[in-house]
Amino acid sequence: MTETPTPSKQAHQLVEAADNLFTTGVMSHSGHANLSARLDGDRFLLTPGFVRGLRPEHLATVSLDGQLLEGELRSVSTEIIAMHSAVYRARPQVGAIIHTHSPAATAFAVAHRPLPCRTEPMLRFGQPEDVPVVPWGPRGSDVSVRGIADVLRLRPTTSAVLLANHGLLVFGPDSPATAHLVVAIEESAEAELAAAALGGAVDFPAGALEAVRASIARVAS
Ligand SMILES: [Zn+2]
Repeated sequence: MTETPTPSKQAHQLVEAADNLFTTGVMSHSGHANLSARLDGDRFLLTPGFVRGLRPEHLATVSLDGQLLEGELRSVSTEIIAMHSAVYRARPQVGAIIHTHSPAATAFAVAHRPLPCRTEPMLRFGQPEDVPVVPWGPRGSDVSVRGIADVLRLRPTTSAVLLANHGLLVFGPDSPATAHLVVAIEESAEAELAAAALGGAVDFPAGALEAVRASIARVAS
C-alpha cells in the first residue's frame, strides 16, 4: 500500500487560491481553470481536471517532462502539462501558474488585443506592463506551447499572457500572489471595456510605477 503524504504548504496554498478565484467572481460560467505550484526544480502539483470542491489530496504531482508521478489526472489536465512546464522552464523563479477563462480578459484574448496596464491593482500586483497575446494553437499543442515560450523570451518581465481565442495564463512567486494577479487583470480588463463607452481608458502618467514603489517602500519602512 502506498503511503499518503502530508499535503505540502504549496498544496494548501493552491487549493486556497482556487477557492479565491470563485469567491472573487473571476471564473467563467464553465468553472474551467487549471492551477499548478512548483515543488522543486523538476516537479509541480497540478489540478486534476476540476477546481470546484478541490482538496489538497486531489492534486497530482507531475514532472517537468510530463510524467505523472503521483495522483490521477483527467485527460483535460494531461493536455495542459506542457503549457505549465514551458513557463516553469522559462522562468526559474516562478512558483505557481493559473490558467482561467476569466470573461473580460478572455474578451481581449479573443480580440487578439494586448491588455494595457492602466489600473492601480495591475500596476501594484505584478504586471506593470501590457499583457501580450500568444498566437492560437490547440491547447497543450507544440504550436501553443512554443508560442508561449517565444513570448516569454521576448517579454522577460511579463507575469501573464493572453492565449489567443482561449483565455488567460498568469504566473507568480506562489499561488496566493498569482491568484491576486488574476483578479487584478480581470478587473483591469473589465475597466478597459467599461471605459471604452466613456471615450476610452487613459494611460498612467510617466513615472507611475516608480511612484507606487516609493509609496510601498514608505509604508514598509
Ligand atoms: Zn483553457
